[in-house]
Amino acid sequence: MIIDILTLFPEMFNGVMNKSILGRAQEKGIIEINPINIRDFSKDKHKRVDDYTYGGGSGMVLMSQPLNDALDSLTMGKNDCRVIYLSPKGNTFNQSMANSLSKENNLIFLCGHYEGIDQRIIDKWVTDEISIGDYVLTGGELPAMVIIDSISRLIPGVLNKSQSFIDESFYNGLLEYPHYTRPAVYNGQPVPEVLLSGNHKLIDEWRTRESLRITIERRPDLINQLFNREDINFKEKAKLRKLLDELLEDNKDK
Ligand code: SAM
Repeated sequence: MIIDILTLFPEMFNGVMNKSILGRAQEKGIIEINPINIRDFSKDKHKRVDDYTYGGGSGMVLMSQPLNDALDSLTMGKNDCRVIYLSPKGNTFNQSMANSLSKENNLIFLCGHYEGIDQRIIDKWVTDEISIGDYVLTGGELPAMVIIDSISRLIPGVLNKSQSFIDESFYNGLLEYPHYTRPAVYNGQPVPEVLLSGNHKLIDEWRTRESLRITIERRPDLINQLFNREDINFKEKAKLRKLLDELLEDNKDK
């Protein structure tokens, strides 16, 4: 996957994107991450990229010309680019958006700054307007890094065998079960016995039950969505329904 990022601060990406799992994925050639300076495309003699907002008001807006020229150049010869504008007005990012984006070959991230970017660029180029939450940041760089990190780890070959994403929170619609590591007792707190039993069927059951329990407690909204998902088969849903009923029954007694 080729990921181009249009930003006023390309150097912000180096530390985060070139380390650890993402750094190795780039070394292996599975992903290519290219932070590109929007200013390089400015035709202004002072390399200016922003101007006042029409209609008055405070704050500057990123101008159309450098962004349009940059997008023209990045998409030349490619007909399958998704152009993502990071924006608090966008759809809120989630795991299913990450899954969909991870299947693309070419992504372009457009990082706004100041008041944002000229609306005409959004109207002409942007395929996805994405927010990372209901709060306002100074620029689109951190949201771009968050999204790139979450989609990269879903691309085959990026995680190694011991780092599966399948069991993790949200992938199967639930929050993840708790983890423990050695020692078996620490400061008088024991690890749940079933995890030491070596019985994988019982361990799987315990994990599913714990996932459901935590999801009911913290994100009951996810439970309804779970039963509407088409990628979870009938047998699996019936099993989850049975466990859910048991848990709700247990909770009634408390
Ligand atoms: N005037 C904009 C508004 O009220 O919707 C906010 C602009 S913000 C100060 C500057 C840039 O930061 C935005 O253009 C966007 O690229 C990025 N940004 C800020 N908050 C964000 C969020 N929650 N999700 C994604 N991008 C965000």
